[in-house]
Amino acid sequence: MSFVVDGKLEACLNCGQDQSYIVDAYPVGDRLMEGVLFEYSFDGNDIVVKPTKDAEIYLASGLDRQYWINAVYRWIKIFNGNDSVLCPGCNMWIS
Ligand SMILES: [Zn+2]
Repeated sequence: MSFVVDGKLEACLNCGQDQSYIVDAYPVGDRLMEGVLFEYSFDGNDIVVKPTKDAEIYLASGLDRQYWINAVYRWIKIFNGNDSVLCPGCNMWIS
């Protein structure tokens, strides 16, 4: 499944929401970012990435918040969102 189609998010097949998805940042930071979740949505034609509440707490423990937001942003752009994502609508991991 591709989660980004024509500059919009594809609707979740389970619940139909199409506002945002959540990714595990493990691919961009290996074990440092394993289980650290970032939410992404669209603003116009660009992706907006923000840490989830738990990720904010983790990042505040001494990590460079903006660096990791940028890293996740680049990763989503490069891979076009093609990975497994957590749907905030139905709380299911889908791929
Ligand atoms: Zn869903």
